[in-house]
Amino acid sequence: MKPVLVDHGVWQMTLPTPFDIGPVNVYLIQNDIITLVDAGPKTEEAWLSFNDALKHIGMTPKDIDQIVLTHHHPDHTGLVNYFNQDIPVIAHSRLRPWFEQDEAFMMRYNRYFKALGYQMGVPEIYRKKMSSIEEDLKYASKGILTKAVDEGDTIDGLKDWQVLYTPGHAQSHISLYREKDGLFLAGDLLLEKISSNAILEPPYNDKETPPCSLLQYRESLKRCLKLNISKVCPGHGKVFAQAHELINERLQNQLERRNKVLSYLESGWKTTFDIGKEMFSKAYLTQMDLVLSEIQGYLDWLLQAENIQKIENNGVIYYKGLYAENTSTRTF
Ligand SMILES: [Zn+2]
Repeated sequence: MKPVLVDHGVWQMTLPTPFDIGPVNVYLIQNDIITLVDAGPKTEEAWLSFNDALKHIGMTPKDIDQIVLTHHHPDHTGLVNYFNQDIPVIAHSRLRPWFEQDEAFMMRYNRYFKALGYQMGVPEIYRKKMSSIEEDLKYASKGILTKAVDEGDTIDGLKDWQVLYTPGHAQSHISLYREKDGLFLAGDLLLEKISSNAILEPPYNDKETPPCSLLQYRESLKRCLKLNISKVCPGHGKVFAQAHELINERLQNQLERRNKVLSYLESGWKTTFDIGKEMFSKAYLTQMDLVLSEIQGYLDWLLQAENIQKIENNGVIYYKGLYAENTSTRTF
C-alpha cells in the first residue's frame, strides 16, 4: 500500500494484521536520522507490505536508524525482529519485560490472570481457554530495549518531538507530541472510528497495587485536552483532526457506560463475569479477555467513587450498587 505523507518528512504506512482490529499504522519520521515509530505484527505479509511502502519513497529497511515503540502490544512491535539485531529500540521502561520476554514477569502474569479469572467468577470451562502471555506474544518481537524514555523526554534524532507517558490502553504506552505544529503520534491512545480499550494488566512487581487502567486512560485523555493538537496520527485508521471533540465524546461515552454497568448492579450481587455476560451477550464468548477487562475497569471506577460495594465469598468477588435494594439474588 502506498504510504501517506502526513506532514513534511512524516509518513504513515498501513500494514495488515491477523487481528480483529484490522490494519495497523507505522510512521516514518525523516529528521536528522530516520525513525520508525511502531513496527506492525510479526508476519511475512506485514513485512512485505512494509518493504513495498518503503519502496514508494525510495527507501529500504536498511535506511532506518532507530525504532520507537508506542506500547508493547504485538501489532506494534512485531517487525523489529526482521531488522538487524543492533538497531536501537526505544520505548517506555514498562515495555521492557514484554519485549525482553522476561521469564519471571511472564510467569507472574499467567499466575495473576489465572487467579483473577477465578475472582471474577469466570466458570472453569472458560478459564481453561483464557490465553496465556506466550500465546499473546506470538506476533510480537523479542529483543533488548536499547533505551527507556519517560514523560517529558526527547529522543535523539527526533528534534522537536516530546515524549508523553499516556498509560491506560497499555501500562507501557507513550505518545509523541510536536508542540510547534500540534502533530500528535497517538499509538492506540486515540482512534477515530474505534474507542480504544483500557486493558487490565498485572502490577509490575509485588509492591505495586494493580493499576486501574480505565481511570489512567481517562487521565491520559484529559491531559490531551490541554494540548494544542492539530492532527492525530493514530495506530489504527486514518489521520484525523478535531481531537478535542473526539476526546470529549469518548469521556462522555465512558460515563454513560459506567452508569450502564451500575444499572446491572441494582438488582443484587454480581460478578465481573455475570455483568460481562449480560452486557455483551455475544462478545463475552469470542472476546472474553477484552470484555472482562472493560467491565472490571468500570467496577474499579464505581468502587473508587463509592457507588458500589464488594464482598468476597470463597475467593470470588461480588459487587452490588450501594443504593440498590437489599434484594440479593445470591445467598451466602
Ligand atoms: Zn494496542
